[in-house]
Amino acid sequence: MSDFEVVVLGVGDTFSERNHSTALLLRCDGFQLAIDCPDSYRSVLRAATLRAGQPLSLAGVDHVLITHVHGDHMNGLEGVAFYKHFVEGKRVQLVTSPEVRAVIWDERLKASMSTLWDGQRFRALTFDDYFEHQPLDWAGEITVGPFRIRSRRTKHHVPTSALIVEAAGRTLGYSSDTAFDPSLLSFLEPADLIIHETNYGPAHTPYSSLAALPADLRARMRLIHYPDELDTADSAIAALTEGEILRP
Ligand SMILES: [Zn+2]
Repeated sequence: MSDFEVVVLGVGDTFSERNHSTALLLRCDGFQLAIDCPDSYRSVLRAATLRAGQPLSLAGVDHVLITHVHGDHMNGLEGVAFYKHFVEGKRVQLVTSPEVRAVIWDERLKASMSTLWDGQRFRALTFDDYFEHQPLDWAGEITVGPFRIRSRRTKHHVPTSALIVEAAGRTLGYSSDTAFDPSLLSFLEPADLIIHETNYGPAHTPYSSLAALPADLRARMRLIHYPDELDTADSAIAALTEGEILRP
């Protein structure tokens, strides 16, 4: 039995009325790594707690990997970083590609996080006051706690990292947001479990493309980031549900 667990926190897209935005929580040997950080992150953890029957809280999540800067994948990061700063006196251990790091502060977070009023005066803060950055390596592998992580850039609007995550002798492949890309599938294919996105538009993967893959590959694949309209009861690949816990 693998000690590597994947808690499904959100399975929806940014327009969903039914589901939280897509997010995963990887766990191994008591270490937790968040994959993306949607809005109202503490309530997302609470909802998964109720569905999974296991306690999840932000106090146990110090490491956050952001795959790309679209809001449905990182809108919760400001609140998480404020919580760590004010409540826990900690910095978020932020794992991202160099391309995400180049814009995530100056173009996403700086306007709301770079000034604090202490009751008497304004204080200027920087990225380093809230975060410690560990870059993903497009060419190699990095280690985050018990997880060994390789990344590959996907075909998406903005720089986005697909992941191969290995721990306890098991391997998870995660497409992140991407257009249908056979070369990306070759990257993910060796994994024991593959979580793949599906949605509409040129920068996402049509369900029909995944449904046409070989049966042995589909059997190891689960769908995420799907639109509310997807008929999950009749899909050729199992669709993830929130609160589900997977063991790659
Ligand atoms: Zn996206």
